[in-house]
Amino acid sequence: MAGDKSTKAAAWEAEYDTIRELLSHKFGVLRFPKPLETDVREYMHQRAVATLRESYWMVFLLYICSVVLAVQQFAAPWRLRQFPEDFQVTLWLFTATGIAVVLVATCIRFKALDRYHIWYVTAGSVIALISLTIGPSFYIDDSLQQQSSYFMIYVLLIIYGVANLRLLQAAAIGGCSLLASLAILYVTGETKEVSTLMQYGVMANLVGCGNAYVLEIRDRRLFLQSRLLELEKRQLNRLSERMVQLAREDGLTGLANRRHFNDTFMVEWERARRERQSLALIFVDVDHFKAYNDSYGHLEGDRALVAVAATMKPLARRAGDLAARYGGEEFVLLLPNTSSEGANEVAEELLSHVDNRQIPHKASSVGRFLSVSIGVASIVPDVHLAPSQLIDLADAALYAAKESGRHQIVVNDLG
Ligand code: GH3
Ligand code: MG
Ligand code: MG
Repeated sequence: MAGDKSTKAAAWEAEYDTIRELLSHKFGVLRFPKPLETDVREYMHQRAVATLRESYWMVFLLYICSVVLAVQQFAAPWRLRQFPEDFQVTLWLFTATGIAVVLVATCIRFKALDRYHIWYVTAGSVIALISLTIGPSFYIDDSLQQQSSYFMIYVLLIIYGVANLRLLQAAAIGGCSLLASLAILYVTGETKEVSTLMQYGVMANLVGCGNAYVLEIRDRRLFLQSRLLELEKRQLNRLSERMVQLAREDGLTGLANRRHFNDTFMVEWERARRERQSLALIFVDVDHFKAYNDSYGHLEGDRALVAVAATMKPLARRAGDLAARYGGEEFVLLLPNTSSEGANEVAEELLSHVDNRQIPHKASSVGRFLSVSIGVASIVPDVHLAPSQLIDLADAALYAAKESGRHQIVVNDLG
């Protein structure tokens, strides 16, 4: 148990130090050590899905605005007559980007598809990026070509923002789309503007990657900070649990201390009074313990007390039962809903368990081994009785056990 606790504490400390170290990097870190990297990827995935869900309406808005702009461009009949092929190109462009927009919009609606998020975002982005990169080349009208190239840069940046891609994903998607566009342009022979288009494409992708880098570093930092908070909270909880435990526990024996016994006793007294049930107390006092200390030393005396406490602990079997060190070499067992007969049986068990330990006690007048005297009392509390009366009864029973020669049980019933 102790080993388990110390490995837990060491793991906590190691994770805490790693996170502090990662957070101290000025430009952020793009790859964390193993268990953190797995968790941060899951975190970024969740964020990317959430961002896409929240902001996908922007893509729709952009698409509708582009359609409106395009319609304005081609509304004039002279233009339609002069450049009928350009109209075809625009139609193709809107069909391809429309497919990408609808594909992602459909997939994002289904939670079951969340784990394929990167695949449908990649498919949608690649279709949109390729169409927007090669589209302008097919225009005959120079001004349209120019406008659509600018538009491409603008759309690219929005795609990168909304998709919340990680740097590596953005670079891979952007790079592959550019290469594919280049290949298509060469295959179709549309190479007259290829260098200008590629310049635009490379620049837009570079800015997109810069954006992805900034977003990824931000997400990674957010993850680390929330993890740090979680770790600190866990540590605080552990400490406060430990403090509560320390405040309730007897340092030597590990049983409840006197304060905890007093608190529990009052709670159980009230419960027993409300429910008209009996409440039993078993007072235990080690026989001739002063003499034991004198013969074997205080340290051995402490060990003997720990041994007596260990025999008591398992006797507090039921939920409300409590074994406590009442003070010095005196112990108490609190047994709710227990009659004096029931408490007497427990007391007999305790007496014989201490005997069975056979702790030598050469200075005892009772026998060769360490023994205890036990006082038992049980009452059904009511408004005319004070809690101290039960304690007095048990105490009087213990005193009687001592008076009658020790190493025995006396039961004190009210009445
Ligand atoms: P009796 O049989 O009448 O109970 O005699 P007793 O000697 O046990 O009773 P007494 O009250 O005279 O002595 C109790 C002794 O318990 C005195 C004290 O030194 C010892 N004691 C109390 N607390 C501790 C403790 O934490 N460790 C040790 N080693 N001894 C303790
Ligand atoms: Mg005593
Ligand atoms: Mg004693």
